[in-house]
Amino acid sequence: MNKHYDHWLECDKSFEIYDCLQDQEAYWVKTKDTIFYVEGGGMERDTGTINDVEVEDIYYENGFYYHKTRVPLTGMAHMKVDVEQRIWKVQIHSGSHLLCGWINKKYHAKTIAFFTHEDMSGCEMEFTSMDDLLMNQIEREVNEYIVQDLPIHIIYPTAQEAKKHVPDSKLDHDELRAVLIGDIDYNMCGCIHVPSLRYLQAMKLLSYERTTRGYKLFFVCGNQLLKTYGHQLNILDACAKNFNTAQSEIYPSLLKLRQDMKELKASEAAWRQRFLDLRIQMMGESQEVYIIKEMDDLDIKSFQILCSTVVRNYPKGLFCVCKDHDRCHVIIAHHPSLSFKSNELFKSLAEKFHLRGGGNPGMAQGGGTYDANILEELKIIVENL
Ligand SMILES: [Zn+2]
Repeated sequence: MNKHYDHWLECDKSFEIYDCLQDQEAYWVKTKDTIFYVEGGGMERDTGTINDVEVEDIYYENGFYYHKTRVPLTGMAHMKVDVEQRIWKVQIHSGSHLLCGWINKKYHAKTIAFFTHEDMSGCEMEFTSMDDLLMNQIEREVNEYIVQDLPIHIIYPTAQEAKKHVPDSKLDHDELRAVLIGDIDYNMCGCIHVPSLRYLQAMKLLSYERTTRGYKLFFVCGNQLLKTYGHQLNILDACAKNFNTAQSEIYPSLLKLRQDMKELKASEAAWRQRFLDLRIQMMGESQEVYIIKEMDDLDIKSFQILCSTVVRNYPKGLFCVCKDHDRCHVIIAHHPSLSFKSNELFKSLAEKFHLRGGGNPGMAQGGGTYDANILEELKIIVENL
């Protein structure tokens, strides 16, 4: 058992290098001792440097620690663990001990799992029910313990001693290590912990989520709490500035904005319809029987409605192109009182301009790449009718 892991801020120390093994592009710096935490027990490995060279990985085997570097190192290894990363994960891990231990003890809900994300942490507990009231109560209780600053003890018990406290644990290590938080928690654990609860600063329970096995509780504590809340406050501040209002007014402002948008959309749809109706009327009441036209101010759906409404209500033949950037949609159609075959005319046009689509004698349509000559071709078609 690495006793350096009993001191959470032991992050700068020198040890003799026993050997340095080359492994393709990398090297493994071999030492008998290390302050770098080797990944395990749900805690990530430490990051940092040896003689200012980054440590990329670390493992333990047969009494030796192996640190992966890009440069060979000899002599003394001056190890520097990244303090910020160490504090971050140790606070979260110790916070999980407190939260899970307290829930185990008071609510008799067993721990199923715990996890850490960048902006929040959490644990899954065997609760059969959970609500805001209970979550807030647990938050209050664990924060009271943080204020009491209960010490977190690391002890090395015999298997017999440990068995009394954790009868269900597999005690299969040569040397046993237990973590004690007052009378709240007694757990076998090889990770690094804060020395007492005040180093967690505070714990905020964020939300809960039902799972197949119980409930997940999400929380932030220590530096993760400061960072996550700082980040979220910055977002709220940016929103408030954008709304030109106070942070507390963001939500009502958002609701009003959504309502305004809904009304605007309804009003836009009504104007769109009026615009289309006017276009239909203008086309219908125009002098020509055959209308050859290119338009670029309608979407295809409105264009289709326009053409089909005109030929249904007015004695017209339509030869129209709707341009949409580099694409276009063409409609050839007529009122039942006219008798040319729209589908045949469209087919000859489609072949010439590689358009897709088709239809029947009354109406044919389709789309393809826009070509200014389509309109000219439509004029020729009409001349030949
Ligand atoms: Zn632990």
